[in-house]
Amino acid sequence: MVVRNQAVLTARFNKLQDPTDVETFCQLGGYAGLRKVVEMNKVDVLDELDQSVLLGRGGAAYPVGKKWRNLFYAESDTKYIVCNADEGEPGTFKDMALIANDPLAIIEGMTIAGYVFNSQQGYIYIRGEYRNMHRRLRQALTNARKANFLGENILGIPGFNYDIKIISGAGAYVCGESSALLNSIEGKTGRPRVKPPHLAEVGLYLKPTLVNNVESYANIPVIIREGGAAFRALGTDKGGGTKLVCLTGHVKNRGLYEVNLGTPLHDILYSEKYGGGSSTGRPLKFIHFGGQSGPIGAVEQLDDVAYSYDDLRANELTVGSGAIVVMDDSVSIIDYLTVVAEFFAHESCGKCTPCRIGTMRILELMEKFQRKEAIPGDLEIFETMLTHVTELSACGLGQSVSVSMFSGLRLFPEEFEVAINRQT
Ligand code: SF4
Repeated sequence: MVVRNQAVLTARFNKLQDPTDVETFCQLGGYAGLRKVVEMNKVDVLDELDQSVLLGRGGAAYPVGKKWRNLFYAESDTKYIVCNADEGEPGTFKDMALIANDPLAIIEGMTIAGYVFNSQQGYIYIRGEYRNMHRRLRQALTNARKANFLGENILGIPGFNYDIKIISGAGAYVCGESSALLNSIEGKTGRPRVKPPHLAEVGLYLKPTLVNNVESYANIPVIIREGGAAFRALGTDKGGGTKLVCLTGHVKNRGLYEVNLGTPLHDILYSEKYGGGSSTGRPLKFIHFGGQSGPIGAVEQLDDVAYSYDDLRANELTVGSGAIVVMDDSVSIIDYLTVVAEFFAHESCGKCTPCRIGTMRILELMEKFQRKEAIPGDLEIFETMLTHVTELSACGLGQSVSVSMFSGLRLFPEEFEVAINRQT
């Protein structure tokens, strides 16, 4: 995979002939974070994470320092470390790239967590479709054990015993939700749990558990090595570091990029360093941010917006998973959102009625708009349905179905209007 603009997380990409080889990984800065952390006071580690303002890279952007602190003070002899590698958001492939190109960085981040929480067991829950990545991770774990960076008495430190298992998902998008993921690891149906209790109190096998995304773990060694303040300076004060973004759709240079948080969105779309502008010669029309559950923005309204957590939020947008899907003006918002609605109707796990039935009704309405067979009143039903599914669904999947729909409706109301047959 071609990765442009190598910086921090991608610094070792394409430099490791064998990305699972521990010796070359160490020569390029690998395991410096783990070696340093075992010399540190554990509370200082939490302080560094707070200073880094690392926001969770799975999509929810929860502060990682806060999550670690919650787990740190949870009382239990047993704590688990879980890596969410169930990357199922359409248009998102950055975790796969990290696993393929630098799997030991993820393992190092998880081992640092193992040390901080006195955990003995970590799990990587990986998307079932990523077959080749399973092999890559297995080899990296084997090599880390051989080099004494996993297993018993890591780095020769008595009592520092920690290992990692790989668990494969089976293709359900909802297993990317942390509690559904834990149920799946336990061998139960991968459906979300009711929260609270939170996973830092009652997680895997009812024990306090840390669940972070692949990219979040890969950032941990960088923060420990360079310090939280230096990490924050790579981004903005409200969201530190760099971000892997997956740029797809109607741009010339589709692919994976590592960008400093705060980079102008205009640059990401149009500069030759990144997207290079429209691939079709037609004007770019809208951008879908952060995966299917994310909002849509109109390109012409985003000229002065920076790609950062705070600036996007101020414009009712989000970083989410890091997906940036760009569409030109040949694409109707109705057609686009019908595909999104199909996705949610297919991926609803069926546990709760508002989501199970609501996603089907939303899809039916979108298809009616698409065929231009909607009748007066359908738009109101559509909006009511979206509101109900958002407010009554049990987990983030159902709660976020309406995000792209409402933003599309707000930006391009005329396209919905012409889809209504007013002759009936
Ligand atoms: Fe399942 Fe949807 Fe309910 Fe979540 S909101 S528990 S995905 S049915």
